Amino acid sequence: MHEFSAACSIVDTAVEAAKKHNAIKVTAVNVEIGEFTFLVPEQLEFNFEIAGRNTILEGAKLNIMMVKGRLRCHDCGNEGEAQSDPDLPPQIAMFAPMKCPKCGSSATEITGGKEFFITNLEAEIADAASG
Ligand SMILES: [Zn+2]
Repeated sequence: MHEFSAACSIVDTAVEAAKKHNAIKVTAVNVEIGEFTFLVPEQLEFNFEIAGRNTILEGAKLNIMMVKGRLRCHDCGNEGEAQSDPDLPPQIAMFAPMKCPKCGSSATEITGGKEFFITNLEAEIADAASG
């Protein structure tokens, strides 16, 4: 149910933001999802639809942008995009320590890609001057 709680959080944030801007209906929500959240986009879309029911987000489209994770290596100081071990299947790679792409050390720290956030909303605003 990882995706469901993420979807609820996106819906809550979007509803709050929409209210602040006097939106009457949200048509799309654009989100950035970090690689290390391990959220499955299809699952997230599905749960977003359920979580958004009976809110002004009902029927809104969820546009997901996946963002690469970032790593910092304690051994060589390299910082950059994380690369999972190509020899490992994804379901194991997600639990294995990420290796430094430069020196191969496993003494790495994830510095980005563990979060997800809304980049913007597309909405219909009440009291718009034009039709
Ligand atoms: Zn390194």
